Amino acid sequence: MNTDVQRIYLDYSATTPVDSEVADAMLPYFTRSFGNASSIHAFGRETKILLEESREKVARAIGASPGEIFFTSGGTEADNHALFGVALAAKRAHGKNHIIVSSVEHHAVLRSVEYLAANGFEATLLPVDEFGKVDPDEVRAAIVPRTSLVSVMHANNEIGTIQPVEDIAKAAHDHGIVFHSDTVQTVGKIPINVDALSIDILAISAHKFYGPKGIGAIYIRKGVDVDSHIHGGAQERNRRAGTENIPLVVGFAKAIETSRRELEKNAIHMNGLKKELKRLLSERFDSILFNGHPTDALPSIVNISFDSAKIDIDGEALLLNMDLHGVAVASGSACSSGSMEPSHVLHAIGRDIKTARASIRFSIGKNTTKDEIIKAVKILEKVARQSTVFPV
Ligand code: PLP
Repeated sequence: MNTDVQRIYLDYSATTPVDSEVADAMLPYFTRSFGNASSIHAFGRETKILLEESREKVARAIGASPGEIFFTSGGTEADNHALFGVALAAKRAHGKNHIIVSSVEHHAVLRSVEYLAANGFEATLLPVDEFGKVDPDEVRAAIVPRTSLVSVMHANNEIGTIQPVEDIAKAAHDHGIVFHSDTVQTVGKIPINVDALSIDILAISAHKFYGPKGIGAIYIRKGVDVDSHIHGGAQERNRRAGTENIPLVVGFAKAIETSRRELEKNAIHMNGLKKELKRLLSERFDSILFNGHPTDALPSIVNISFDSAKIDIDGEALLLNMDLHGVAVASGSACSSGSMEPSHVLHAIGRDIKTARASIRFSIGKNTTKDEIIKAVKILEKVARQSTVFPV
C-alpha cells in the first residue's frame, strides 16, 4: 500500500469500521467472561444473560419480540436460512415448490435460488423498472397456487433503490404467501418496523452499521413455518446449532442500539453529502448517468455510469486508478473466475454491458466529510481522463 497517499474510503456499503464503543463493549467477552452460554454453571449463566439481553436489543430495533430473533453468521446465512427454510418447509407440508424473487437481489439470495432450482424448485425472477423498483402488480401476476415465498430486498446494495415492501408484502399475504426481505442495507440507516412493513422474515448484518463482521440475525415472525438451517445442538431454540459467539453478539447489539440512536442525525448528514456529491458529479461530467431511484433511495449510495454512447471508459482501469489515487469505491462489475462480469443490477435496469462496466458506486458513511467528497470528485476527473479509451 502506498502510504504517501491520503486514503478516502467511500465504500461503506461494502463494510464499515467497528465503532470504538462497540469494540470496547466486546473486549471483556473474549477473555474475562468467556463461558459457553449453554453451560449451566456460573460462567455459562453469565453469558446466557448477555445473549438474551442482546437479543432483546436487536428485537427492539426492528419492532420484533426477542423470541423472533435468531443470531446467524451474517446477512448471507440469514438469507440462505430464509430461502431454504421456507421452501423446504412449504414443500414438505403443502407440496409447494415455487418461489418469487426480484432480479436485483444480492447473490446471497440469487445463488440460493439457483441451488433450489437445481434441486427441484421453480423460481420466477421479477423484472424491475429503470430505477430498479419492483412493481407489486408483477408480484401478483407471478403468483401461482404452488408459490410459497416472495423475497424482495428492502434496499439495493448497488444502486440504493428502496422497494415498496409494504405493497409487495400485501400482494404476497393476499395469497397466504410468506414475505422475506433482505434488509442488510437498510437496518441502521432507515427506520424499520416489521409490523409497519408487514415483513415475515428479514436478514440483518452487523458489519454494515459499525458492528463486527461475521454476525447477523434472522427475524422470523411467530407462527411462520421455517425449517432449521444448521443442525446439531439446541442453540437458538434448535434453529441454528453451534456455540454462540458472545463477543460478536454483544458488539452487534451495541452497534444496532447506537445506529438506532443516531439514525436521524446520520441520515441527514449522509443525505447532505449525497446531494453535494450528485451536484458536483453533474457539474463536472456530461457523460454520466445516475443509477437508482432519484428519491426512494438510501441516503448513503450514489451510483453512476459513464454512458457508452458518449464516452468509452474502461471501468476496471477506472477503479484501479481511483484506488491508486487513494479513493476506495466499488465498481459496476464483479470479479467472476478472473473476468469482470457486469453487474446484474445494472443489467436489470437496462444499462448496456459497456455502460454497466464503466460504473462506480460511492457509498457514504456517518463520518464521511464534505472535503472527502470534493477530493474524490477531483480525483475522478483526473482518473476518468486516464481511463478513457476514446470519446465516442
Ligand atoms: N445482502 C445484501 C443486500 C448485502 O449488501 C450483503 C453484503 O454485502 C449481504 C446480503 C451479505 O451480508 P454478509 O456480508 O453479512 O454475509
